[in-house]
Amino acid sequence: MRVFTQIRPFEPLSGQIYKHDIRVKWHECSHCDYKTKAKQNLNRHLAYKHDIGVKWHECPYCEYKAKEKGCLKKHLANKHIKMTK
Ligand SMILES: [Zn+2]
Ligand SMILES: [Zn+2]
Repeated sequence: MRVFTQIRPFEPLSGQIYKHDIRVKWHECSHCDYKTKAKQNLNRHLAYKHDIGVKWHECPYCEYKAKEKGCLKKHLANKHIKMTK
């Protein structure tokens, strides 16, 4: 009769101390699981992921709008500005 005497003591993950910032006030996205410590990151997240609070850069010549001014510039250059010089 074999008796399993090998008792493995419960080993806490002593090497891994989780650095949970409990005092941190998280800014949580109400549309997905995203959360961040910085509110401006949440605002950016909302704008990029959920189109909330986006300052659109609208094309004056067509329906196009971009979240970034650089995108609108590119659009203008590609679609509307003819390099005639
Ligand atoms: Zn989100
Ligand atoms: Zn346009």
